[in-house]
Amino acid sequence: KKTTSNGTDPRAIRQWDNEHFFHPWDSMGVAGMDRVIAHEAKGIYLYDPQGRRYIDGPGGMWNVQIGYGREEMAQAIARQAMSLSYHSPWAFASEPSAVLAKKLADMAPGDLNSVFFTTGGSSAVDSALRFAQFYNNLRGKSQKKLFIAREKGYHGSTYLSATVSGKERDKSFLDTEKRLVRFLPNVNPYVRPEGMSVEDWCDLKVQDLETAIVEAGPENVAAFIAEPILASGGVIVPPPGYHRRTLEVCRRHDVLYISDEVVTAFGRLGHWFASEPVFDIVPDIVTCAKGLTSGYLPLGACIISDRLIDEVSGPDRESVLFSNGYTYSGHPVCCAAALKNIEIMERENLLEHVRQVTPKFQARLKAQSRFEIVGDARGMGLVGCVECHVPEGRGRSEADRLELDKDIGARIDAKCEEMGLIVRPLINMCVFSPPLIITEDEIDEMFDILERAIARVEAEVL
Ligand code: PMP
Repeated sequence: KKTTSNGTDPRAIRQWDNEHFFHPWDSMGVAGMDRVIAHEAKGIYLYDPQGRRYIDGPGGMWNVQIGYGREEMAQAIARQAMSLSYHSPWAFASEPSAVLAKKLADMAPGDLNSVFFTTGGSSAVDSALRFAQFYNNLRGKSQKKLFIAREKGYHGSTYLSATVSGKERDKSFLDTEKRLVRFLPNVNPYVRPEGMSVEDWCDLKVQDLETAIVEAGPENVAAFIAEPILASGGVIVPPPGYHRRTLEVCRRHDVLYISDEVVTAFGRLGHWFASEPVFDIVPDIVTCAKGLTSGYLPLGACIISDRLIDEVSGPDRESVLFSNGYTYSGHPVCCAAALKNIEIMERENLLEHVRQVTPKFQARLKAQSRFEIVGDARGMGLVGCVECHVPEGRGRSEADRLELDKDIGARIDAKCEEMGLIVRPLINMCVFSPPLIITEDEIDEMFDILERAIARVEAEVL
């Protein structure tokens, strides 16, 4: 009988997990999903208690940059926990949090030099949005409160970060603060009308923002929030020039630009932050989390431009608290993990490595389009999505086709799992965001499995 390292029978783990762990994004009414039990992990691989090996296609949740099981990371965490396990971030300074704040300020674009530490991505976005409103209150523009966000965007699961998240399915049975937000339609070039050029599509999408601001009244709009690439909405890469032009629109209307780099920062696109080197913008606020610690411990940050801070602070200003914070803001052990993560990424030249293996990753990804059930394969850097659809016709009713369509990602996932690859699709979209240490051979191994799985599902449904 196999047991885990703590001696618990895997059947008991499965049972207690099904009965008592209310998982995030869990579906009500489905009693127990019988998830694979993650037992150990090393490099890009996860192992279950039986020792079966799986490539981690989504890289945890887009966050395991340096790979699993790094001993020096465990040691850095242990050392920090022994010497200073915690301090109040309000009352004290400490070496790990100060050194990390300086590092992030150096890495972040332009004059973004004030680092507000949070517990993860949602709380980083929440803090960025609250800062945007706070900033306007201090400037005497307290009517500037609205946020502009985008369909298919995802920014988190606090009330405010969920409010600006634009995935319809996520909203159906949960409430959000609708009066605070306006959504722009999908920016995905894949859905542009037939015959329209990508340039015209870009014009239209920039115009969407301008129209939304003008219709709401610029005097009422606080900020535009955007992921450089909409990650969990299906790895949507906006058309070239979109970021720079939307930033210009924001500047014209005194609207802050918040770039949510929770997925794109820390090497996913071959740079520490993607905003400036990849998309040619210096936003007003950047949020990050995930790859900051490679998932070894939770940590996020919201990094704010000096220009904004200068505008609302200084000797002749009334002293006003930014009354927002967390017990674990700048947690020393999490900051020590982030510093070790960055040190490893620097020492192993991981940014350069990502740029080197990206052509292979993107070529293998885009080659999936040859399947009839693949509608689109898209991505950038080491992130990609294969969007699947059951084609129309073939003597099947439209209702049957739609039913199959909903299930198609799960079918591919099940076949991949049998062959040692974790996919975990978003309905009909299989997303890939592997650890950045992945080699070209491992990229081949991953896509070889995916291809075999898609071919088998295609044979079943066509
Ligand atoms: N922003 C983006 C772009 C994300 O992808 C996510 C997480 N998927 C979040 C924010 C929320 O981060 P967290 O889950 O760490 O709260």
